[in-house]
Amino acid sequence: MTEADCIFCRIAAGTAPADELYRDEAIIAFRDLHPQAPVHVLVVPREHIPSLLDLEPRHAEIVGRLHLVARSLAERLAVADRGYRTVFNCGNEAGQSVWHIHLHLLAGRPMGWPPWPATGG
Ligand code: 5GP
Ligand code: ZN
Repeated sequence: MTEADCIFCRIAAGTAPADELYRDEAIIAFRDLHPQAPVHVLVVPREHIPSLLDLEPRHAEIVGRLHLVARSLAERLAVADRGYRTVFNCGNEAGQSVWHIHLHLLAGRPMGWPPWPATGG
């Protein structure tokens, strides 16, 4: 997967459509195409970082900023007080399907914990 065919790089570059809620020089946020909750937003660094396993010390600030943007969006979308969940999926067993890191912001319904029943192991 190169940046040219990465869907989130294309959304960041403006060459693929998205229901965008936030953009600055380093981060974009847009609604998930297949929402799993009434509010389901992806908060994404514009830099192509394939997985959390690719994080380097220089990324510490951007990872923190993703959470600050998520909080600000939760406030703007009026779900901060009732509660919201943020999730990074890392790797196949965690369900990562887009290899450009993204923070899921989920809200607007009660969230179970654990997130789904264990199926063994
Ligand atoms: P992951 O499974 O990697 O943690 O999450 C990827 C998310 O990206 C999924 O929730 C999926 O619905 C969403 N997604 C995949 N392709 C697109 C797209 O082209 N546009 C938008 N807005 N969301 C997408
Ligand atoms: Zn990318």
